[in-house]
This record gives sequence, structure tokens and C-alpha cells, in this order.
Amino acid sequence: MVSQHVAVIGAGAAGLVAARELRREGHRVVVFEREPRAGGTWVYTPATEPDPLGFDPSRPVVHSSLYKSLRTNLPREVMGFGDYPFLPRADGSGDPRRYPGHEEALAYLEDFAREFGLEEVVRFEEEIVGVGKAEEGGKWKVTSRMRSGGGGGGGGGEEEVFDAVVVCNGHYTEPRIAEIPGIDLWPGQQIHSHNYRTPEPFQDLVVVLIGSAASAVDVSRDIAKVAKEVHVASRSYEYDTLGMQSGYDNMWLHPMIEKAHADGKVTFLDGSYVGADIILHCTGYKYHFPFLETNGIVSVDDNRVGPLYKHVFPPHLSPWLSFVGLPWKVVPFPQFEYQSRWIAGALSGRIALPSEEEMMEDVEDLYSELKALGIPKRYTHNLASSQFEYNDWLAIQSGSRPSEEWRKEMYSESMRKMRARPEVYRDEEIDETLISEAHEDFAKFPLRR
Ligand code: FAD
Repeated sequence: MVSQHVAVIGAGAAGLVAARELRREGHRVVVFEREPRAGGTWVYTPATEPDPLGFDPSRPVVHSSLYKSLRTNLPREVMGFGDYPFLPRADGSGDPRRYPGHEEALAYLEDFAREFGLEEVVRFEEEIVGVGKAEEGGKWKVTSRMRSGGGGGGGGGEEEVFDAVVVCNGHYTEPRIAEIPGIDLWPGQQIHSHNYRTPEPFQDLVVVLIGSAASAVDVSRDIAKVAKEVHVASRSYEYDTLGMQSGYDNMWLHPMIEKAHADGKVTFLDGSYVGADIILHCTGYKYHFPFLETNGIVSVDDNRVGPLYKHVFPPHLSPWLSFVGLPWKVVPFPQFEYQSRWIAGALSGRIALPSEEEMMEDVEDLYSELKALGIPKRYTHNLASSQFEYNDWLAIQSGSRPSEEWRKEMYSESMRKMRARPEVYRDEEIDETLISEAHEDFAKFPLRR
């Protein structure tokens, strides 16, 4: 097996597990992390960006989009890595709930990093600002700079050469905004959920919140505690669910916004309207790789990152450039682990990848299939119901065990409960047999928190 010198960008869950798998395979790893600590998304900060919609490319970027009240939307058994279960800490410290608060998820990642000695390979407060092909052989030139406040230098970039680069920079930081006719003349305020932390600033306001995914569901309920009215607009609501929400006297569901008007009114597609103070966009995020200098060999088009073989390798640059963590509507941590193992094995030569032509053909087949089904490009990395099949395919490539049956079942059950009872699903009992199966499995791993 050949040991490569590998740069990993980001020390969130993806970068940490990538570093572990690469080191297990015998590679020499440097993880670049622009923040002062590991954990990525899970490092909550009350700080927000000065531009509440994130339009200004030169704005100081705040990485995490967590809000203060956030609890995980997956049960801890399902969420954890395959061989390092997300159990409550043995010493009783922390948050033992099955759907814990965000601090517990960060503590878990910190324990993971400590357990596998990962922090020794992370260079904190070093931001990657350039990744391009080096003159020398097939190598990569990686340019980093110290972020202000960090221990050294500041300002200018430092160039280093690596055999391979693994991109783990996350994709919940760059806001995607709903297009609303008339918005330029509308006099109210707008904010994206990336900059939402607590409900207090919404006290007594009439809020229009756009979106229906997990954070829209949580944030609308958070805000309803203090706002005068919350009007949730989404493309995906069924008409029979519209109207005032049970359990609330100040929250309504609407179809999508039709138009925003100069007099402050916001009209919806069913003809209903409100006079609103603020529009809150819970409309998701964009993939963003401002450091990539790959001359269009890999690019982002309508939120499709491509071309990528199995969402990981650009065929022309494989295995020397790879991405961990692009798929969405998935259980992230275990999937990062499968992808990382595959990358580590491909880099050492233990796992053979198909030829560039074969990989391109596979990508083209996926694109044709999505087109034939009328699925827009921006859904390319939405794996949802095929995520476990995808994980199992990756597991076969690297000789790992496939996804556990209990994990698949518990995931489906948790999704069902979340949709049916968004207020209370986190504290409901679940099938005890599934929990026991998970714990029997966890007992096989000697490393425990
Ligand atoms: P991130 O955690 O975003 O980490 C990326 C890292 O890269 C960051 O540390 C960042 O500072 C660093 N970085 C970025 N650019 C550079 C650069 N140029 N140079 C150096 N470093 C850089 N998942 C779950 O499993 N359960 C949940 O309940 C859950 N809830 C969520 C709720 C919200 C509101 C959000 C936004 C996400 C949620 N997720 C949840 C998904 C979550 O993002 C993933 O679990 C996971 O943390 C993503 O890990 P990552 O390493 O891919 O990205």
C-alpha cells in the first residue's frame, strides 16, 4: 500500500472521520481548519453575519447555522459513526437524551477526535484559499492563510504541495434565497435561517417564514412563542393542511408566496395575504468551493457539483481530488465514514477505481436518469431513500460491513414520527427491540465514550 501526503479541508464531522480513515490506511494527513476548534456545524455561536441574507461575498463568514434551541433531528443511535457509537458519556456528564441538544453532538465529535488522536494533525485557524494543480507531477498546490486572531503571520498565503486533497468544507453556510416577485420594493426586513439564533428579535412581529424542511419546522415553532403571527409558506404543503395550525393561535400554513408589495403586504398563491414585518428564508444552502482552481473540471451548476463519480471523485482528477459529505437527506456521520474509507483505499492503491471513461459514463447515466424523471439538477445529491443502498455499495468497495438493519429501521421510524408529530417526536418512546439491537451492536466496539 502506498502512503500519500493528503490535505483535508475542514475539521467538521467529515474532515475528522476522513483524517481517521486516511491515517488508518497509512497516509500522512494534514487537516486545515479555519476555525479555532473542531466540530464544524456543531460549534454553536451567537454571532451572526452583518449581511442577514449572505449576498455580500466579502462579508465575514460565520460558519455554523445552528440556532440556540437546536436538538438533533436524528436519534443518537442512528446518528453516530459505525464503530464509535454516540452513547451518553459513561461519567454521566452531558445530555443523555436520545435526541440531545447541539452541545452534546459537539462533545461527541470532540471525544471522537480525542480518542483517535486527530487534533494533532489539525492546523487550526488556517483557511484554505487555493487548491490547484502543481507544476510538479500530478500533485496539488494548496494555499492557506492564517485567519486573523490566529497564532501566526496573518494576511499572505502559504503554499504547500500535497499528493491528494479531500474536500470536507460542509455545505450549510452559503444561504440560498427564495426568489420573490416584487421583493425589491417591499419595505420589510429579510433574514436567512443561517443567521437565526434565538426568537427574541421576532417579539410581536408578523413573520413570513419560507420553507418546510427540518429547520423551518423547528424555527417556526421557536418563533411562534414570541411573534405576533407566523405565516409559513412552502411549495410542498398539501392544500388540505393549510390554515391555522393546531396547537397554535398565531401560526398558519400557506402555499408559496405569490408576490411582495410596496405597501408591506405579502400575497400567497391561494389569494390569501398578510401585512408582514419580516421574511425569514429557511430555504437551504448552496455548495460553495471558493478555493477550488480546477479550471471547470469540477464546478457547481444549479447546486449540482459535478461531474462526480458516486458524489465523491471527479473522474478526470480521481483519486487525487475527492469530496466527503455532499449528499443530503441522509444520515451524515456514518455515510462520511463509508466515503472516507473508499477514498483512503483508492489513494493507497488497495481499491481500484474504474477508468475515467467508465466513471464519466456512470455520471452521465445518473444525469440522464434524473432528467428523464424531471428531477432538477439541484436534487442530484439528494439521496433520501437510496442512501442505504449507496452506503452499502461504498461498503462493498472498501470491504466494510454494510449499514445495520436496526439503523435503517430506526431511521425510517424517526422520519415518520418527525413528520407526524414535529413538536413531540424527540421525546416519544420508540420500539425497545430496536434500541436493544443497536446496543447489542455497540457492545462489539471496545471504544466507548
Ligand atoms: P461542517 O460541519 O460544516 O464542517 C466543515 C468544516 O470546514 C468547518 O469546520 C469549517 O470551518 C471548515 N472549513 C470550511 N471552509 C474552509 C476553508 N476554506 N479552509 C479551512 N477550513 C474550512 N446532522 C445530523 O446528523 N443530525 C442532526 O440533527 C443535524 N442537524 C442539523 C441542523 C442544522 C441547522 C444544520 C445546518 C445541519 C444539521 N445536520 C445534522 C447536518 C450537519 O451539517 C452534519 O451532521 C455534519 O455536521 C456536517 O459535517 P461536515 O464536516 O460535512 O461539515
